[in-house]
Amino acid sequence: MQTTSFLPTMNTKAELEAHQIEGLKWTVAHAYRGSSEYRRKFDAAGVAPADITSLADLQRLPLTTAEDLRAGYPFPLRCVPFEDIVRIHSSSGTTGKRKNLCYTRKDVDDWTHFFARCYEMAGVTAEDRVQIAVGYGVWTAGAGFQMACERLGAMALPAGPGNVDLQCQFMLDMQSTVLCCTASMGLLMAEEIHQRGLIEKINIRKVIYGSERSSRSMRQKISDLFGGAELFDITGMTELYGPGTGIECPHHDCIHYWGDYYLVEILDPETLEPVPEGEWGEMVVTTLQKEAVPLIRYRTRDITRIIPGDCTCGSIMPRHSRIMGRTDDMFIFRAVNIYPSHIDKILSEISDLGSEYQIHLSRDKAERGVMRIVVEMGQEGQMSSAAPLADRLVRRLKRELMVTAQVEIVAYGSLPRSERKSQRVFDTRIQDSII
Ligand code: ZN
Repeated sequence: MQTTSFLPTMNTKAELEAHQIEGLKWTVAHAYRGSSEYRRKFDAAGVAPADITSLADLQRLPLTTAEDLRAGYPFPLRCVPFEDIVRIHSSSGTTGKRKNLCYTRKDVDDWTHFFARCYEMAGVTAEDRVQIAVGYGVWTAGAGFQMACERLGAMALPAGPGNVDLQCQFMLDMQSTVLCCTASMGLLMAEEIHQRGLIEKINIRKVIYGSERSSRSMRQKISDLFGGAELFDITGMTELYGPGTGIECPHHDCIHYWGDYYLVEILDPETLEPVPEGEWGEMVVTTLQKEAVPLIRYRTRDITRIIPGDCTCGSIMPRHSRIMGRTDDMFIFRAVNIYPSHIDKILSEISDLGSEYQIHLSRDKAERGVMRIVVEMGQEGQMSSAAPLADRLVRRLKRELMVTAQVEIVAYGSLPRSERKSQRVFDTRIQDSII
């Protein structure tokens, strides 16, 4: 039976804040001492570790970006000697070099601890059988889900990504109770289970999914096809340990993030000034006890907002909304900034449409931008109603995004399902080139 709890040790917000101030002071002094890159950035900003005495002083510190990580390749922002590093993980950057991150033994241990807290918050216990259908290797995903599952004392089934036959067989033979995957993989598996008529023979009760956006309708569909399984959106990124830095609580009211391990600021991505509490902006994170590569005001590019007030679940851990999109995922079409998540939302509000879609951006003969949205009919929908549905979607897009798009409705199941992140935006507009 599970005996250890991984929940935070502090009981009040004042205790949490005292812990955060100490962690911030330690982190800034540690980074200044350990990394010439951080020292140079702090010196350039005219701020020294002794200047940091409160959480408000955070804003005096310079921002750190993905470019800083790339510039320091292969061991960027390293603050400890090599003999203290026990592991490397890396993630693909959107362009150019990988982002490699170093971990000390304590970093791995801390990550395992708060990831086990995610499982605990989702109600996973030592009696559960956790099928881990995410990538293993240099990525943080597999390692994180696995270590924390074992720390919790549950049974880990490291199935890895893809391989639908093996996934189905594990669910049948091992009677897995928890499935960990991306949202796309969750949908793919849910549909497979449905098509193979396995729902009565399997025992999945919770789906813990992360690493990509999911619409409300997609969540609903995964839950329904798994016979009412409870879904938990888990957050994280390699730069910040890996997955498990926050999770939806059982009250399903946004994401609790682990404020005893890192701070979150929400900044306007243009002005880089804090937005008023509760408004959308870019999440910027500062670690409080990370040793090998502490992050100081790291721009995540994730768009979210802080949820003010207390959660009904009783946790004192702060909350942010589910990730709405990426600052670099946004595309501009005829001078309108569009987030794919906004299109997710519009689609989820038209009941007969499916949740799978693609956005194709191109140019016509007159060099005008053309946006074509290819969207699947819902599973129960009839293709005979495609034309009026397409008209409805065109009008909704016009009203909500103020753009004119072409809409093509295709049969359910005809767009590719991905085991990883589905590519939504296909932009073939000719870019201006410098000659
Ligand atoms: Zn809660």
